[in-house]
Amino acid sequence: MLIIGSSNARVGIPLGMAILRRGGSALDAVEAAIRAVESNPDDHTVGLGGLPNVLGVVELDASIMNGATRAAGAVAGVRGIEHPISLARRVMQDLPHVLLVGEGAERFAEECGFEQTELLTPEARDIYLRGLRGEENTPYAGLAARAMVHRLAMQPERASGKDAGTVNVLALDQDGNICAGVSTSGFAWKYPGRVGDSAVIGAGNYCDGRYGAAACTGRGEMAIRGATARTIVLGLAQGLSPEEAGGRAMADLDLIPDNYFSTMNCVILAPDGRHAGFSTVENQIYVGMDEHSREVESWPRTYMPVSARGQ
Ligand code: ASP
Repeated sequence: MLIIGSSNARVGIPLGMAILRRGGSALDAVEAAIRAVESNPDDHTVGLGGLPNVLGVVELDASIMNGATRAAGAVAGVRGIEHPISLARRVMQDLPHVLLVGEGAERFAEECGFEQTELLTPEARDIYLRGLRGEENTPYAGLAARAMVHRLAMQPERASGKDAGTVNVLALDQDGNICAGVSTSGFAWKYPGRVGDSAVIGAGNYCDGRYGAAACTGRGEMAIRGATARTIVLGLAQGLSPEEAGGRAMADLDLIPDNYFSTMNCVILAPDGRHAGFSTVENQIYVGMDEHSREVESWPRTYMPVSARGQ
C-alpha cells in the first residue's frame, strides 16, 4: 500500500492513506486525497482559490485513470465546480466517454448533483489583478493580457514557472491496483478555453496496472506534445525502472523546442511500489506514505535541467 503525490498533495495524502489502510481502493484514495487539495483555498493552483484565466474566470481541468481496467475520465475548462476530480470520476463511471469540456461538463455536473461554487477567492482575485497591472513577477499575465487585447501572438519570453502548479496523486492498494489522478486550475492568466495536460490522458496522466502510473505538473503544452505520462509508462512496460523511465521521458522533452518552457515535473509509481519524481527545477520534492508511515514523508525529485535549446 502506497500513496504518493506532488508536494501540494501533502494535505490530502493522510486521508488517502487512511482509506488504503481500511482496505479501500486506490481509486477512492486518489479521489479523497485530491478533493482535500481542491478544497484548500491557500493552494492557488487547484480548485477553490485557484488562479483564473485572463478574463478572471477560474477554469479547472482534472482526470482520473484506473490501472485495473485503464478506464479513464476527465473534464476540462469547467467553471464553478469545487471537485473536478469527482466529476472526472463520474464521467469515467457513468458515461461512455472519457473527456467532457466546458458547458457539457457543467451540465453533467448539475445532473450529478454537484453544487455551483464561486471558486475565485478574494486572495486569488488580488493576485490576478496584480498580474494584470504588471505587479506580479510573471510574464504570463502581461503576455496573456496583451494577446487578449491585441489578438497578437505571445512574445517569446522565458516564463518563471511561478504561476504553475497542479496536484498529482498516485496510489497502490492492498489488492495491487493502481490509480492516478490530476487536478488543476491550469496556468494563471491563461487564454480562456485553454486546456492543459491535466485533462489529457497520456499527457499529464496515465495508468496501466500491469506496469505503473505517471502524472505531470508544469508546462502542460510540453507534456501534451511529448505524451509524457504515456511515454513514462511505456518505459516501465519495456522493463525500465521508474528512475530510468522518467529520466528518458524528461530528456525527450528537452528535444522539443518551446519558447515558453517553464517547468516540468513528474511522479511515477510501479506496481511493486518503486517510485520516483523528477523536476526541471532544483531542490524539489514529492511526498507520500506507505502502510508503515506515521506521517507524510518526502523524497527529493531528480533534477533534470532544461537546456537552452529552442529558447
Ligand atoms: N500542468 C498544468 C497545466 O498545464 C499546470 C501546472 O502543473 O503548473 O495546466
